[in-house]
Amino acid sequence: MLVTSHALAGRIIGRLLPRRPLVAFAVGVASHLAMDTCPHWSPAEGPGSHEVFLHVARRDGVAGLAAVALSVASAPAEERIGVTAGVVGAVLLDLDKPFLYFLGFNPFPRWVRRLHKAVQHEAPHRMPYELAAAVALLATVLTGPGALRS
Ligand SMILES: [Zn+2]
Repeated sequence: MLVTSHALAGRIIGRLLPRRPLVAFAVGVASHLAMDTCPHWSPAEGPGSHEVFLHVARRDGVAGLAAVALSVASAPAEERIGVTAGVVGAVLLDLDKPFLYFLGFNPFPRWVRRLHKAVQHEAPHRMPYELAAAVALLATVLTGPGALRS
């Protein structure tokens, strides 16, 4: 699933557990695995697949970084640690991709990589699912539990 959606879910989790950062982190990691079990997009296998993946990943990476930054920056000061923990937990497993791309290695142990890969439920026609999930999560961030507030 898009890292942007994971970041938004992490913000919601952090706002719901603002004074329990370790729990927020753990729930964030669990949310990542749960979300990755939901049907979501991947490029069609074959020639050009990697380029299609990178095309989406670059945009998702920028949007995800913005979601992380805005999630943490907009959290009330007394909740910032919990929100940060929720967001970090929610996006952590997808750090394998930038590590592989920029540094050439996956930082996670084999059992984590296997688990992360095993839960994926991907297909090439599911980008609308990804976008619907991102919009729903953004709407929740803006209006639901843990909504943006000044
Ligand atoms: Zn993932």
